[in-house]
Amino acid sequence: MSTLEPVYNSKMDCPACEKNFEYGRVRARSIRHKGQDTDLCPIYEGVNPLFYDAIICPYCGFAYIGTDYSLLTRYDYSAVKTVVTPKWARRNFDGPRNVEQAIEAYKIVLFNSTARRAPASEFSRDCMRLAWMYRIRGDSVTEFKYLERAFQFYQDTFLKENLPVGRLDEFTVMYMIGEVGRRIGKYKDSLKWFAKLVEEGMLPQNNLKVPQGLMELARAQVLIAKAEMDADNARAAANGEKK
Ligand SMILES: [Zn+2]
Repeated sequence: MSTLEPVYNSKMDCPACEKNFEYGRVRARSIRHKGQDTDLCPIYEGVNPLFYDAIICPYCGFAYIGTDYSLLTRYDYSAVKTVVTPKWARRNFDGPRNVEQAIEAYKIVLFNSTARRAPASEFSRDCMRLAWMYRIRGDSVTEFKYLERAFQFYQDTFLKENLPVGRLDEFTVMYMIGEVGRRIGKYKDSLKWFAKLVEEGMLPQNNLKVPQGLMELARAQVLIAKAEMDADNARAAANGEKK
């Protein structure tokens, strides 16, 4: 009854080495979306499609999140060949993946992004994916490390890139800086970016541009960030620390 398996293999031609390879995909009808974390991590019941978003060529090590390679150039593919492939030990990423394999896959994507000198928006996405994977694995220390990196890359994205980039718009970037900042205890920065989002999101010309639900989410997270900052300050005062 292989047709009922939630994960099946799809084929594609590698855009870097041009060889044909297979990679695991989740059948759309097997995906059970249950909700999302406040940092927009989708939560699923059963098979987790997030484990399969990193597509990796077993022959040359080319790796990317999603299937849209249209923004990559010939330079990007030659960077894969000169930087990634010489260090690549052949590994297959077809069939079902567990969280450990998903972490390995996203780390290969991160290595590709580094080799290609990708824009900050790609690094922020890679680092968020890794933070989410470590959260699923229950490793909060490593999750924190990747959240710190994502926090920096989202700020670079906002300052240096022409937004929107793909599906990532400026409002979502502001939200992510606010929310990831809150999660790593940078409350002042977090509140500053949430305030910026609320201010800009309320401008009449931005009415239709803000993703649905993002403003309500931001207002809710502002209250949580403020409460956490107060608790943090009270704790520091009790310990005689200066904030
Ligand atoms: Zn390849």
